Amino acid sequence: MTGAVVWLERTSTGVAGASREAVGVARSIAGGGPVVGLLVGAGGPSAAERIPVDRLLLVDAPGLADASSAQLAALLAAAAAASGADSMVLAGTARGRDVVGRLAVRWGAAAATNVTDLVAGGSGELHVTRPVFGGRASETLELPGPRRILAPRPHAFAEPPPASAAPPSEALVLPDGFSALPGRGMEGFEPTVGSKGPELGEASIVVSGGRGLRTPESFHLVEELAESLGAAVGASRAVTDAGWRPSSYQVGQTGRAVSPQLYIAVGISGAIQHIVGMVSSRVIVAINSDAQAPIFKVADYGIVGDLFPILPALTAEIRRQRGLTGSAPG
Ligand SMILES: Cc1cc2nc3c(=O)[nH]c(=O)nc-3n(C[C@H](O)[C@H](O)[C@H](O)COP(=O)(O)OP(=O)(O)OC[C@H]3O[C@@H](n4cnc5c(N)ncnc54)[C@H](O)[C@@H]3O)c2cc1C
Repeated sequence: MTGAVVWLERTSTGVAGASREAVGVARSIAGGGPVVGLLVGAGGPSAAERIPVDRLLLVDAPGLADASSAQLAALLAAAAAASGADSMVLAGTARGRDVVGRLAVRWGAAAATNVTDLVAGGSGELHVTRPVFGGRASETLELPGPRRILAPRPHAFAEPPPASAAPPSEALVLPDGFSALPGRGMEGFEPTVGSKGPELGEASIVVSGGRGLRTPESFHLVEELAESLGAAVGASRAVTDAGWRPSSYQVGQTGRAVSPQLYIAVGISGAIQHIVGMVSSRVIVAINSDAQAPIFKVADYGIVGDLFPILPALTAEIRRQRGLTGSAPG
């Protein structure tokens, strides 16, 4: 394996944390070859400042800020051709995973998404591990060469330390036929309604609430706990179906899959459709009044009790420990 290209997915605040983690993965499989970052959109290299890649390839075009998967696959293949890389790593976000399949066909590569561990063998082979059956088992695959694409699961790999200086950058020459590729063709755009804190899929801590909160008016207890921890807010489908919170909050089979360092489930029973969306979280804490609730089967720590006195007390104690002054917002 020699060299790897990483797509540096952009967010409103810079490069996605999952893309930074992808840079570390790229380094570990690049076989001593260069790690090249691809940055697409307006604004030049500043968005990727101090990202520890050896070189940046830029497509500085405002019209491509929301490039389609077809366009991104073409740009990534061009970046690999320009750098001679035989591996690519994309963040395991919804966008990243969407691009992987198309890119694998276009570039003629073996691909794996949702990767949580990898071992590079001495003869150039790559063994990757990923959860299957909703996290109840894991499988290890050998990805044959010569070309490979990986999409690591967010938070499964550590983010490498930033570089001491910005990497050298140059413009990527657009591949032949690029202008004929379909764009995203959006006719309208409605921003996702999210909570105030970090983005659900990116957050290191997620606090989710379920039907145990009984009314939409009680949901602020979950939001205050989340705020005290700097966490994103999630919800079970019972909550989103009832209209207590928008569907963008939903965690689970038909919602978002999250894998934070810490997942706190409050008043959530632990139906399998919820579990598959959060079971790969590093540490799971459940708060539920029913000691037999299935959520406790996947929880690392559990509090059996009534959430209504527990949540305010927990939030107050976390605020005190973290030196957050003033009373919790109501
Ligand atoms: C095709 C399909 C797809 C689905 N996709 C999803 C999905 O993506 N995500 C999802 O979440 N669900 C999904 N569901 C729904 C899922 O099956 C459950 O119905 C749902 O997750 C239940 O939500 P809940 O745990 O909040 O509510 P409940 O199952 O009603 O659980 C409420 C919990 O709160 C506890 N509780 C009550 N009062 C208190 C209190 N005072 N203090 C502490 N605990 C208390 C109860 O003991 C109970 O365990 C899907 C279902 C189907 C059929």
